[in-house]
Amino acid sequence: MDYGHPIQFGTFITPVNSSPQHPVRLAQLSERLGYDLVTFQDHPYQPAFLDTWTLLSYVAAATERIHIAPNVLNLPLRPAPVLARAAASLDLLSGGRFDLALGAGGFWDAIEAMGGRRLTPGQSVDALSEAIDVIRGMWDVTTRSQLVGGQYYPVKGAKRGPSPAHEVPIWIGAYKPRMLRLTGAKGDGWLPSLPYLQPGDLQAGNARIDDAAADAGRHPSEVRRLLNLGGDVSVDQLAAFALEDGVSTFIVMGDDPTMLQRFADETIPAVREAVESERRRRGTIVGARRGAAALARRRPGIAYDEVPESLRENAVEPGDFAYRSVKSTYMRAGAPGLVLRPRTVGEVVDALAFARRHPGVPLGIRSGGHGVSGRSTNDGGIVIDLGALNDIEVLDEATRRVRIGPGARWMDVAQALQPHGWALSSGDYGGVGVGGLATAGGIGFLAREHGLTIDHVVAADVVLADGSLVRASADENPDLFWAVRGAGANVGIVVSFEFEVDAVGEVGWAQLAFDASDTAGFLRRFGETMEAAPRDTTLFLILARQGRGGDVVGQVYGVVDSSDPDTIIERLQPFAAIGPLIGQQVSLAPYAVVMANASDAAHDGQGEPRFRSGLVAHLDADVASAGAALVQSGSTPWFQVRSVGGAVADVPPDATPYAHRYANFSIAAIGHGDRFERHWIQLAEHFDGLYLSFESRQGAEVVEEAFPPATLARLREIKRRYDPDAVFRDNFSVAVQDAVAG
Ligand SMILES: Cc1cc2nc3c(=O)[nH]c(=O)nc-3n(C[C@H](O)[C@H](O)[C@H](O)COP(=O)(O)OP(=O)(O)OC[C@H]3O[C@@H](n4cnc5c(N)ncnc54)[C@H](O)[C@@H]3O)c2cc1C
Repeated sequence: MDYGHPIQFGTFITPVNSSPQHPVRLAQLSERLGYDLVTFQDHPYQPAFLDTWTLLSYVAAATERIHIAPNVLNLPLRPAPVLARAAASLDLLSGGRFDLALGAGGFWDAIEAMGGRRLTPGQSVDALSEAIDVIRGMWDVTTRSQLVGGQYYPVKGAKRGPSPAHEVPIWIGAYKPRMLRLTGAKGDGWLPSLPYLQPGDLQAGNARIDDAAADAGRHPSEVRRLLNLGGDVSVDQLAAFALEDGVSTFIVMGDDPTMLQRFADETIPAVREAVESERRRRGTIVGARRGAAALARRRPGIAYDEVPESLRENAVEPGDFAYRSVKSTYMRAGAPGLVLRPRTVGEVVDALAFARRHPGVPLGIRSGGHGVSGRSTNDGGIVIDLGALNDIEVLDEATRRVRIGPGARWMDVAQALQPHGWALSSGDYGGVGVGGLATAGGIGFLAREHGLTIDHVVAADVVLADGSLVRASADENPDLFWAVRGAGANVGIVVSFEFEVDAVGEVGWAQLAFDASDTAGFLRRFGETMEAAPRDTTLFLILARQGRGGDVVGQVYGVVDSSDPDTIIERLQPFAAIGPLIGQQVSLAPYAVVMANASDAAHDGQGEPRFRSGLVAHLDADVASAGAALVQSGSTPWFQVRSVGGAVADVPPDATPYAHRYANFSIAAIGHGDRFERHWIQLAEHFDGLYLSFESRQGAEVVEEAFPPATLARLREIKRRYDPDAVFRDNFSVAVQDAVAG
């Protein structure tokens, strides 16, 4: 029986302490020779050996590619909950290179001498079974329920986490029937040593494991078969182990560098060749297969078996380990049925073709996953995640033309442009993706001087709803080019943008805090001062009440685009007078440093986002008093005013779908509930338009507020031509059939 796993080779190195660097050097040699895995036995009672955990950690730091595993870990002296944490930590530190192999024990006198508990053979199997559950439970940070242990590991109240970097397999060193059954029921691999096996043991062990796997509702191929090799084993024998007994990981035991080299040079290529050619002849499908538990979590309505070949390897389903890091966005908890992660434009076309065959299933397009509406995830639908399309490339130094993939984040863009002395007006948060922002607007710290992000787009490559790839620019598909710059989500998937960026040196980065108890007066003075400021100054304001009934504090922050300290102070001086200043910090920094404010952590949005947006010309007395009432009511934890105007208003209103060029301010607030709605409605009376990037409501009313009638009519006409079936329907669709939804 060949279970169809890719063939791998590892080494088994004695962790002797007489020459402590020797095993480390052998591990490094294993990596250089191309082995997939280096392993160390674990006998914590053996004074001649280095401690295996310590050695594993040291080797992880001294290698770069090779996987590292104990072979096998002595569970009775490694308490499972701590072991889970250590394993996850080492996996995170090594970049996902740790694999876990466990043994139930043995050498009980020695274990007892080291403070371990003596167990009967039956108890040791039970303890191992419980340990596997506890370890997997500790790693599962997506489950919020309390961790449940048992007799050997009660884990009462133990906290879950950390989650490892990759799906760490748990292999089991097993020989006896109960251990073999446990391996079949729960293990990810069977790891015996050939010198301890009698003829027929491999076949009998496989049969026991396969039966137990089937009894547990698993497919036998969910258990990888590994084998420690001692003594001379020929290429033919190894090929037979692979093709007849399903062994896919061969681990060669021995500390002789010459032997390791010879095995790598002669045996490994010969075994690979023999196995691969026979697999080709038999038509064996090779690759990791999803287990029964993972398949059971598939969502209805998605033809999983028809996912295009090009996307399969990177596709993520609810039962997959990677799902926890791709299901949600920054703002919203999601539970998509399938996340497709194309790496090339061709794969985007494939992904869209697949999605098009599912007209009844929600479709999210994701670049950086920061969409405030949260529609780049969904419940039970398909997500096309463009994160891998993140190249940043300078096309022409003279015109400062750059090509950027939608999956790049603005902090990476700022970092890449900085050595050239350039910057591209983006937003205020480095984690936001290029794709979402550059198709909607882009109100950032350079807006008053350099305009919106969309004002810098000079061309875009777009995959249309019908799967064709077209270029949009002033000369090519100009109507599509118009639509992309403000309503891009409606007309296609932008797979690359060309921008002309600005020369920007170091900037003044200011953060000022005020007592804003006189909230209306403060808002008004902020507005007046902002409008009077030169264009090189773009400041934002966040107002929030400190606790129930507490004072309102205003934080003014943003950029003065000057590297001259005197100019920076001069620009900020009038702002220092708009209220009692309670804190200030001003520094000279590259724009890239200002934008380096996001982490690399996976998105973990909770619940539904509740954002409201509006655009106004001035923060006059009426706007200020309605805004102040909202903030004072305590019904919003976050009320933000962004300055626009300046260069943004230089662009004619009909040049892009972002038509409200008159607005000097974009206002956004988080909130829900009656009190918030009442106050927001009063404030909204003064708005003329809204900015979709800060809005979470969907429906016709919202797009009608975002786009003035002439703009919306043009958009709808373009939508009818480029996306007649409303394939892109889930995020602020302008399709007329949606116009009745609220
Ligand atoms: C913390 C934070 C700070 C923010 N700061 C600013 C700011 O300073 N200025 C500002 O203007 N906005 C800001 N925003 C709003 C942000 O610009 C938008 O939400 C933007 O859509 C996010 O882009 P993304 O690629 O990260 O989002 P995603 O969630 O990946 O995408 C959002 C939507 O854009 C569409 N989309 C994404 N990629 C593409 C593509 N390649 N082609 C076509 N359509 C696509 C999809 O409809 C998707 O639902 C901020 C949001 C957050 C959460």
